[in-house]
Formats: sequence, C-alpha cells, structure tokens
Amino acid sequence: MNHLENQISGKIEKQKEKILQFTKELIKIPTQNPPGENYDKIVGLIKKELDSDLEIKIYSKNDKPNLVAKWNVGAKKTLHINGHYDVVPITTNWKHNPFIPEIEGNKLFGRGSQDMKSGLAIMVYSIKILKELNIRPACNIELSFTCDEESGGIDGLGFLVKNKLIKPDYALVLDGVNQITNAHKGVLALEITVIGKSAHAAWPSRGINAFTGACKLAGELNSLNDKLTKIKSKCETEDEITKSPTIVLGGVTIGGNKFNTIPGEFSFTIDRRIIPEEKISDAKTQINKMIDTFKKNNPEYKIKIKTLLEAEPASTDKNSRIGKVFFDAVKKVKRKTPSFTMISGFLDMRFFVNNAKIDCIAYCARGENLHGDDEFVYIDSIFDNTKILIYTMLDQELNKK
Ligand SMILES: [Zn+2]
Repeated sequence: MNHLENQISGKIEKQKEKILQFTKELIKIPTQNPPGENYDKIVGLIKKELDSDLEIKIYSKNDKPNLVAKWNVGAKKTLHINGHYDVVPITTNWKHNPFIPEIEGNKLFGRGSQDMKSGLAIMVYSIKILKELNIRPACNIELSFTCDEESGGIDGLGFLVKNKLIKPDYALVLDGVNQITNAHKGVLALEITVIGKSAHAAWPSRGINAFTGACKLAGELNSLNDKLTKIKSKCETEDEITKSPTIVLGGVTIGGNKFNTIPGEFSFTIDRRIIPEEKISDAKTQINKMIDTFKKNNPEYKIKIKTLLEAEPASTDKNSRIGKVFFDAVKKVKRKTPSFTMISGFLDMRFFVNNAKIDCIAYCARGENLHGDDEFVYIDSIFDNTKILIYTMLDQELNKK
C-alpha cells in the first residue's frame, strides 16, 4: 500500500464508529414510501451532517425535497454520486424492530440498512474523510440525496435530471446489488380489467363471467413466456435466465365479492420486464395485439387497460471511463477481479443513462433481505464501499478530456 492508501485506510478505521452511527440515525427516521413520510426530517439530518464547505441546494417537487451538494475543485469533469433516502414499507414478520437499528456481529439490521441508508452514510463520510485529510478529488463532485426511488423516482432524480439541475459527466448510483451493475431491465406494469355482466350464480346464463374471461386472457398472455425466454440480452448477468425478458401476471387481482354472484368485473396486473435491447413501446404493442385478438374472439367482453408504471431499461458500456475506473477501485479494495452484471430490478440509473445521456454504474453495500423481513447490511461492506468510493473519486482518469 502506498502512503495515500495508508492515510485513507487509517482515516476510515478511525471514522468507523461515526459512519455506523450515522447509518443508524438515518435508519431511525422511517421514510417509508408509500406514503412518502419524514422526507423533510431526513434531508435536515443529511444537511446537518454534510461538510459545511459544500455548496448545498434543496430542490423540492410536490413538497418533496431533494438535496444536491457540490464540491467544485475547478476540474474539467464532474462525477455525480446519487442515493435515494426513501425506503419500502415494512413487511409483516420482522424479528428485529425495523426502525431501531440493531447490530449482531457483522450485521446491521433495519429497514433501509442495505437499501440504501448505508449508501447515504458512505456518500457523506467519503467526502468528510477527503476533506479531513486535505485531499482533493480528481474531478468536481456532485452528490444528490433524492426522494421517491421506490415509487419510480419521477419527483426525485428524474426531476433533477429533467430540469438540468445537475450537470455531471459520469454518475454512480449506490443502489442495487453488491456487484458492479452496468445495466438494468425496465418494467412495463399494466392493470387489465375484463368487464362482463354480473348476475345471480343460480342462473349462469343471465351473466357474463368476467373471472373466467380474465383467466382465458391471462392464459393467452402467459404463453408469451415461451417466446420471451428465447430472447437473450447481450449484457452480462449472474445466470442465463436473467438475460431474458419476463412477464408475470396477477401480482394484484381484484374482482368478485360473493360466491353466489357472477363477477361482472375482474382485474389483474401484468409485470413485463424489458431488457436493454427492447423498448417499452414494443412490449406494449405486443400485449395490445394479443388483447385485440382476444376481443375479436370473445366479443362478449370489454377490456380496459391502465398503465401503472413505465420505466425504460438502461445500460452503460463496461468499457466506459466510469466503468473502468469503478472496476479498478473495486478490484483494489476487494483484491479480486470483480464482474459486471445486469440486474432485473430497475434503478434511478436510467435517468442518467436515458435522459442525461451519460454513463452510469450502480453498486451497493452487501446485505440481505432488502424489501423483505429483517433487512440487514454487512458492516464491513459499508467500510469497503467507503474506500471504493474514495478511490473512484481520486482516479485521475476521470478528469481526462
Ligand atoms: Zn434502492
């Protein structure tokens, strides 16, 4: 290890308690989304903890604050590091208290411990450590702490990017999985309502059963799986199956209210995951065509289609500058060659790639059970990631033309 690396390691070692304490303070504020609560409170806490030398601005959309902090070192290029401060609501079978963080060995339990309050602490403390060591990053640094990632990020990072409130050359999102993520799938979520005619179940011929109609339509749509599994993305993935687009039906079903009534309406949802080589509009057209055919063959039914969510897929070349620099930083800290991956869940990364048209990599601390019961993060991974982030910020490659 050279002198600089020694200095950084030593400083992280000294700051471990503070980094952990700040992660706990963030977990203690339940920023569950939905409904989207305590947003002002958590932004207040982050602002207080951030170095006062930074240029800090708060951009609110629909009363939801997004904090942007800039460290301008007069460099040609700017690296942006993003994290979201909202968490998914608690699930029902926690053994630990989700908002009273607890440590057991190397595990820190709490909602958001991995996804992604530890990431926010890493962002804040990597800057603090550089400032305290009097070391300047290789390029200008922008940080954003944004709302609503768990509900699509439109008022969060989406708002900042679309209004050009941040102007980076590359970006990192400290979210997702503990593997270098250079691509993610997109999602098209639809709610399909089949409308028939309700009647007393004792006289079936007087009604049109929306449930059986929906079953038939769902069966037809489900057959898309055979086609989709044959399509493979070129992106690197953990396993072969992740390379394919998918369709899942019935995440939510609504309809029927009594056993002796013919249901007049039945709804089910569709979750269609889209690989970077596809477009949402293509997936939509494919589904619409199948529904049109169903309507032609079953004219007794009416169909309503409601779009619940559209998030485009995103991918960054692993040989892009930020891809290489981040790869080097991970390799140095972990002392083994890391791999790239595409993940099936979508991230705010897509706003950087698709809207800001810049390269973006995502990477998260190691943990388990995110979005489930007893979410936790491995504590040593928080410190590893602090070092990875600092090494990335110091890489002179980032300031080259
Ligand atoms: Zn997340």
